[in-house]
Amino acid sequence: MNNIAANLAKIHDRIDKACLKTGRNPEEVRLIAVSKVKPAELIEEAFNSGQILFGESYVQEFRNKEPLVKASVQWHFIGGLQSNKVKYLRGKVAVIHSVDRISLAEEIDRQWGKIDSSVEILLQVNVADEASKSGCAPENLENLVRSIAPLSNLRIKGLMCLPPHSDDPEQVRPFFRQLCELSAQINKLHLPGVSMTELSMGMSGDFEVAVEEGATLVRVGTAIFGARIKKV
Ligand SMILES: *Cc1c(COP(=O)(O)O)cnc(C)c1O
Repeated sequence: MNNIAANLAKIHDRIDKACLKTGRNPEEVRLIAVSKVKPAELIEEAFNSGQILFGESYVQEFRNKEPLVKASVQWHFIGGLQSNKVKYLRGKVAVIHSVDRISLAEEIDRQWGKIDSSVEILLQVNVADEASKSGCAPENLENLVRSIAPLSNLRIKGLMCLPPHSDDPEQVRPFFRQLCELSAQINKLHLPGVSMTELSMGMSGDFEVAVEEGATLVRVGTAIFGARIKKV
């Protein structure tokens, strides 16, 4: 087995164990291979090892790389997004994880409207209230959901967070739990067209804890592809 195949197998094994520990069905958890900064060949290699979902963070890099990947992967955009760059993702990504403001949602709606289609989005929540991070403040989430929900060319599928890094994943657990609680609160409102089913949380250092707290999409880069040389 090559490295990537072996790494993927190990991660699936760890996801399965975290599910077993908490009585979850492993089929509820999907693995996104975060391939930012990694070349198309490695993406193809992971695809050939059974990986289908790939996450990218930088629009310019995605524009360059996407045409080079011939395999029928499913792209997820997980990075910070400026409205004027949404057009480069139009029709190419299945899910945008980083929607945190109405202006961005409106532009996504407008772009997917042009191709008579719709895209799934997740709302990014700044759970730790960090000045340096994007994401909607938890207290503004309900208003954001209410303003985005009527847009017809996108569907709100759930929430995403990028909590502060810690070498001890237990330090991050409360943030994962908070995201899960926010999702339950929104679901209780029974807003038309809003059903939060996805929780995008957990990275290489903490995905097991995220799974224990209800993650349905884990975003793992380093543990699959190795360290990134360029800055993240
Ligand atoms: C880079 C990145 C990841 C993956 O991080 P690793 O620690 O390499 O697993 C996950 N989510 C987002 C939003 C990222 O930018």
